[in-house]
Amino acid sequence: MKKIGVLTSGGDSPGMNAAVRAVVRKAIYHDVEVYGIYQGYAGLISGQIKKMEIGTVGDIVHRGGTILYTARCDEFKTEEGQMKGIEQLRKFGIEGLVVIGGDGSFAGAKKLTEHGFPCVGVPGTIDNDIAGTDFTIGFDTALNTVIDAIDKIRDTATSHERTYVIEVMGRHAGDLALWSGLAGGAETILIPEANFEMDDIVARLIRGHERGKKHSIIVVAEGVGSGVDIGKQIQEATKFETRVSVLGYIQRGGSPTAFDRVLASRLGAKAVELLLEGKGGRAVGIQQNKIVDHDILEVLDKKHTIEEDMYVLSTELSI
Ligand code: ADP
Repeated sequence: MKKIGVLTSGGDSPGMNAAVRAVVRKAIYHDVEVYGIYQGYAGLISGQIKKMEIGTVGDIVHRGGTILYTARCDEFKTEEGQMKGIEQLRKFGIEGLVVIGGDGSFAGAKKLTEHGFPCVGVPGTIDNDIAGTDFTIGFDTALNTVIDAIDKIRDTATSHERTYVIEVMGRHAGDLALWSGLAGGAETILIPEANFEMDDIVARLIRGHERGKKHSIIVVAEGVGSGVDIGKQIQEATKFETRVSVLGYIQRGGSPTAFDRVLASRLGAKAVELLLEGKGGRAVGIQQNKIVDHDILEVLDKKHTIEEDMYVLSTELSI
């Protein structure tokens, strides 16, 4: 393989730039030309493709977002769209593609591979919801952003003796809520993977209050429902002054943590290695601190699961 492409797709996540940098530099190190495809699959279809040099990825290892931009593209879900994409790749002489993104982006990479164009998926999403990897690029940074917010909200919660409901991102996966809730000492963590009864939460809050606890932090993953609604229900049932904070998009931005930069560098480089070995249809990941790769189909078929013992621990520590 003498020419490869790289794109970022779907929701952005901190560390995507570090992954792009690793792909570009690893390829150039092996005398392979690299082409950046701008705006994800949309840019692939419209041919927004530019050759990247060592300097193109200079000064980005510490930056959030993605210099390649990202987009959502419904046309690429159609076979016609996918064939248009392959046509563009062939026009530039590109023989393999690294796709950095979440499971939607992986589905696109799978389709291209099925049409005979080798692709490797690099997991980049703050949700940590991809199977076959312990961590996705951006999760650690988002987690630290949430912790910072929880610590600050806790100061106010303590001073005003209030209950705070903090809604964090995670449509289908509760990892961000679970890890931040545990690290932030939340009294209750609500995640889509675990059932809960509002009556139990209320009883717990009242018990804590009777014991002299004057403030509480409840972390809610957005997949569970609206934090605002949950806050209303809690205030009505407990009569405790309750406030809601929806953290929103601040969770997606910011300079990536050292962990995410190192992870992105290792995963980006591995993706290039696989392509150079002529392997497409793979998804890279990290498991037990080893860089691994799996069939992208297997990764898409399997569901990422939370660490159940962590959930149990979070309830034990917040008695
Ligand atoms: P993420 O990659 O963060 O999960 P999306 O689910 O929005 O984000 O997917 C990103 C893009 O990947 C979509 O806009 C679309 O272009 C492409 N994609 C998603 N699902 C498929 C699919 N089944 N087939 C082909 N392309 C897909």
